[in-house]
Amino acid sequence: MPRIAQPDVLEEDRDLDLSLRPATFDDFVGQSKVTQQLQIFFQAARERGEALDHCLFCGPPGLGKTTLAHLIARGMGKQIRVTTGPVLERPADLAGLLTNLKNGDILFIDEIHRLNSAIEEYLYPAMEDFKLDILIDRGPAARTLQLSLPRFTLVGATTRAGLLSAPLLARFGISFRLDYYAPEEVLQILNRSARILSVLADDAALREIACRSRGTPRVANRLLRRIRDVAQVRGNGRVTLQIAREALELLEIDVRGFDEMDTRLMRVLIEKYRGGPVGLGTLAVTVGEDEGTLEEIYEPFLIREGFLERTPRGRKATRLALEHFGYPITEGSQEKLL
Ligand code: ADP
Repeated sequence: MPRIAQPDVLEEDRDLDLSLRPATFDDFVGQSKVTQQLQIFFQAARERGEALDHCLFCGPPGLGKTTLAHLIARGMGKQIRVTTGPVLERPADLAGLLTNLKNGDILFIDEIHRLNSAIEEYLYPAMEDFKLDILIDRGPAARTLQLSLPRFTLVGATTRAGLLSAPLLARFGISFRLDYYAPEEVLQILNRSARILSVLADDAALREIACRSRGTPRVANRLLRRIRDVAQVRGNGRVTLQIAREALELLEIDVRGFDEMDTRLMRVLIEKYRGGPVGLGTLAVTVGEDEGTLEEIYEPFLIREGFLERTPRGRKATRLALEHFGYPITEGSQEKLL
């Protein structure tokens, strides 16, 4: 069974992301504080004829960080170049990108927390003084060549702001944290996606999907596509509430939007570790998942929903989690279980 509710990018998402990615701020739903401020900042920069300050977007995957980077470029009327932290291996990779930019262009670095430290060191003067010192040759013949760069805007995206070094963080003049979307906002996104993909869907069905999408547009779009498949094979193509529920069950997405991994994580925590506290590393080994993935993809949503707590002694299941996953809670018994 594919892990449908994970908000990270699957190969098949890339095309979908492209066709559904909002091309204007009008189509970009929610995150109004972020979009209002951004629009003011880039209008001001444009009027002064300057590049926008370097911008950092933090938050779980699938919430619109890449989309915002593209909207900034469009709003500034400039080109955008896209790369990701782990792809930049050598300083020459960075130099190649930076020297191809024009004044005001946007360089978008996704997963910026995964930049290696050598590249990061090169980035500091590039961001601050728009200069790049390239080391040529090694040993006694070594010398540096200083390149002047255009006034570009670096837009960084990260799911793990905590891993960014202080000097890098300090060089971003603008920084935003994206939060999960409310079900009403996800519904609006689903309505638009259904229109673009020509999916016939009942309002009640889209509402159901919206409530089970982890407040994440990418997950919502992915679920819509899978449910469309079920509607085509098991129904007459129309996404009705019944078809949506049937499909969600098939995909192992429960009524709160938890997928098979969320459920496994919570059950392990409750059954094997008596509700915790238990360390992240131990939990990761027990469920067979990488620590980073648990921390950046699964935990934020479980914490936000009030199912999981991070305490100094480790992860703990809450009373709400016990109730939801059907563990008995009578007066005092929670104490025994936990
Ligand atoms: P991130 O970079 O944070 O992982 P993306 O910007 O790639 O997320 O967004 C994933 C997809 O979700 C986009 O292609 C777009 O279809 C959709 N999306 C994200 N945010 C919004 C939004 N605010 N309004 C409408 N669609 C959105």
